[in-house]
Amino acid sequence: MLIAGNWKMNTDLSKARTLAAGVRKAAESAGEVEVLVCPPFISLDAVCQVMRGSAVQVGGQTLYPEDSGAFTGEVSAPMLRSVGCSHVIVGHSERRQLFGETDEDVNTRLLQARLHDLVPILCVGETLQQRKAGNQRTVVEEQLTAALANVDIAEADDLVVAYEPVWAIGTGETASPEQAQAMHAFIRSRLTDRLGQSVGAGVAILYGGSMKPHNADELLSQDDVDGGLIGGASLKASDFGAIINVATGYTA
Ligand code: PEP
Repeated sequence: MLIAGNWKMNTDLSKARTLAAGVRKAAESAGEVEVLVCPPFISLDAVCQVMRGSAVQVGGQTLYPEDSGAFTGEVSAPMLRSVGCSHVIVGHSERRQLFGETDEDVNTRLLQARLHDLVPILCVGETLQQRKAGNQRTVVEEQLTAALANVDIAEADDLVVAYEPVWAIGTGETASPEQAQAMHAFIRSRLTDRLGQSVGAGVAILYGGSMKPHNADELLSQDDVDGGLIGGASLKASDFGAIINVATGYTA
C-alpha cells in the first residue's frame, strides 16, 4: 500500500514545515504502508529535511523533461533528486487541463523521471463527459499506452499508476468502490499486456479523487486498489494519518 499526498499549490514554507511534521508523526504507526508527500517545489527542501530519518518519502508534483537550461520557471529531475525526492507525479489532470500537457508530454516526463531514478506516479482518468459517453476505458487505455511508449519493461517494475477520475478530483464526489475496482482491474490487464505478467502485476495502482477518512476503507479494500493519491485530505495531518491507518489494515 502506498498513501501519497498531493499538496498542490497549498502551504507556504512555514505551513509546509508544520504539515510535514504532523505527517511524520502520523506515519510513525504506518508499518508496511509507504507514505509519500508531494509539496510545492518551494518547500521540497524543507520538507525533505523534516522527513529525514523517517520512512516518509517526498516527491515533486511535476518535472520538466530536460536536465537544465533556458526553461524559465521549470524544475528538472536532477533538481528534484538533489533535494532528496524519490518520486514525481506525471500527467496529473490539472497539468493536462490547465497547463496543456499532452499525452506525449506526459511520456517525455515519465521517461525523464526514469532516467534519473525518480519513481513516476502516472495519473490517468476520464472526464465526466467521457464517462457519460461510456468512453472511460478507451480514454484511460489511450493515456496509458501513450505514457508508456518507449518505456523499457525492466525499468517499469517500480512504476506507480494513479487512476483519478477527473470528475472526482476536488469535487467531494468519489468513484464507487465498484467503479474504482472495475477500472483498476482494467488498468491491471492493460499493464500486464504491455509489461508482462510479473511486472504488470507488481505495479501499484492508486485511486485518487476525494478519498477521505470516511470513504478510504471501502476504496482501499478493493483487490486492485494498492493505495491512494490524496489531494484535499492530505492537507490535514490528522485526516491523512487516518487514511494511513485504514491502509495499515490492508498490508500483507
Ligand atoms: C488529486 O488532485 O490528486 C486528488 C485526488 O485530489 P482530491 O483528493 O482533493 O480529490
